[in-house]
Amino acid sequence: MNVGKVYLVGAGPGDPGLITVKGLALLRRAEVVIHDRLIPPELLSEVSAEAEVFDAGKAQHDHRIPQPRINQLLVEKAREGKMVVRLKGGDPFVFGRGGEEAAFCQAAGIPCEVVPGVSSAIAVPASVGIPVTHRDLASSFTVFTGHENPHKPESSIDYPAVVAAARAGTIVLLMGVTYLELIVAALLAAGLEATRPAAGIESGTTASERVVVGTLATIVDLSRAAGIASPALFVIGEVVGLRPDHPAVEPPA
Ligand code: SAH
Repeated sequence: MNVGKVYLVGAGPGDPGLITVKGLALLRRAEVVIHDRLIPPELLSEVSAEAEVFDAGKAQHDHRIPQPRINQLLVEKAREGKMVVRLKGGDPFVFGRGGEEAAFCQAAGIPCEVVPGVSSAIAVPASVGIPVTHRDLASSFTVFTGHENPHKPESSIDYPAVVAAARAGTIVLLMGVTYLELIVAALLAAGLEATRPAAGIESGTTASERVVVGTLATIVDLSRAAGIASPALFVIGEVVGLRPDHPAVEPPA
């Protein structure tokens, strides 16, 4: 039997209209779809009724499908000759383990193509009026993960380096809700000014979007008081001040 192909497709940040034209065309043709938790659910209505759909983000016996099993499933289905779409939130290569999946397919001799997506790291700030770069205010942007407890010795985040990046530009924190207190403390300890404008955005580009705006000094209290929950990201930098005047906390529409 002919071997199929795996497409690693970015689903965009939340608004189902923000998948790419190419990604949507592939999704409609897919014979197998393996999707994450953080994809716009509306996109699943584009999938053919004959397609097999796996929710890799769904808890099964208290576990999501573990990564090695996802890798195997991609290869197994492609070996059955199927056209497989692996649909991931945002861009598949931004904190999405897409790199590992592509390498696994490649090692197994399975054709694999990456279809980039609109990453939340850029699109979510943009959608609330915050440009990650600006000619006068930010000549770079740095995206970092808050997935790790910054106090753990094995934390791979170099906070002095992040603070150096924040001096010249914007920093964007993904997966930062759980350890927000510790991360903000680490940024302050590494010398970032408490007066830096900061925003937290939950469920950006969707109807349940919520935004809090303050400074590095106030962002933790504002976020906790508003109950900002995952998926949320935080933007720190002068560009936050460009956001048009809005109430500091927007209730769900
Ligand atoms: N590959 C994805 C990121 C995966 S990590 C991308 O390119 O967007 C998941 C993190 O992304 C979440 O914890 C959150 O920090 C961020 N995120 C994803 N969608 C979001 C949204 N709609 N609003 C705010 N943050 C979002």
